[in-house]
Amino acid sequence: MPDYSKITIEPVQPSWLPSSVHLDILRLDKLHMEISGNKWFKLKYNLLAAKEAGQQTIITFGGAFSNHIAATAAACRDAGLTAVGIIRGEEISADTNATMAMAAANGMELRFISRSTYRDMQQPGHPLHQQLLQEGYVIPEGGHNAAGAKGCEEILQLCPASSYTHIICACGTGTTVAGIINAATAGQHVIAVSVLKGASYLETEIRSLLRQAPAATWELDTTHHGGGYGKINEDLITFMNKFFLETGIPTDVIYTGKTLMACAELLNQQYFPDNSRILMIHTGGLQGNRSQPPGRLSF
Ligand SMILES: *Cc1c(COP(=O)(O)O)cnc(C)c1O
Repeated sequence: MPDYSKITIEPVQPSWLPSSVHLDILRLDKLHMEISGNKWFKLKYNLLAAKEAGQQTIITFGGAFSNHIAATAAACRDAGLTAVGIIRGEEISADTNATMAMAAANGMELRFISRSTYRDMQQPGHPLHQQLLQEGYVIPEGGHNAAGAKGCEEILQLCPASSYTHIICACGTGTTVAGIINAATAGQHVIAVSVLKGASYLETEIRSLLRQAPAATWELDTTHHGGGYGKINEDLITFMNKFFLETGIPTDVIYTGKTLMACAELLNQQYFPDNSRILMIHTGGLQGNRSQPPGRLSF
């Protein structure tokens, strides 16, 4: 079990933050290098459920750069569980990139399969999925299930959550943000920044994991994906490098860099009233920065 005492809350004052607004960063990225940030919270109750069901093997899904795959491999190694990663793409191998290499080094069995088989395997009714269920405990791609969201409800317990008016968090499958919305209180507004293009379907995905009537209000921001998932332009790199220079906080190219950039743009559009107190959840993902050429990021 990772050590929560490593998580810090850091007030920051980047040059784009007006003095009338307060911004804190909840540094989940500090939890663990491999079981990064939000991924631990999504795995926690899934691993417990597997244990309770007497299962020794965890099977899950992801792409070649998946933080979820990296985290599952490391968490299973720590918990003494066998891990199987179903990886989207036949052309990929264990030495394709640092994420795959790390997952394999942590003992995960990697199975590289075609995109269509990958899709089929995830369908609960499909024979290929049924086959996986015979092998072990199956966690959906990105840990997107009720157990995943339940773990993410605990994120807000790590900070004085009630002191914030706004909470901003990156959104891939929507599991993390669903847990945060469930745990947030009346009067708070949660902003889920989608890093995927055209992802209005996430609204339904998030809603499917919400309690009956969450106390907080929320919205899905579909306009700050920066070109789409994994699209990394120079503006983003410049923003991230400057943010690091001004605050000492590293961000990742897929999720947290874009989320902070969204925050800066929303501030610029006067979205946040004076005296807003914003909490940005740093969901981690720094291992993914190894996909960048050396020197592109200044950290
Ligand atoms: C996976 C990931 C997310 C997205 O989390 P979801 O629960 O899938 O929405 C956000 N930030 C980072 C750093 C991630 O690795």
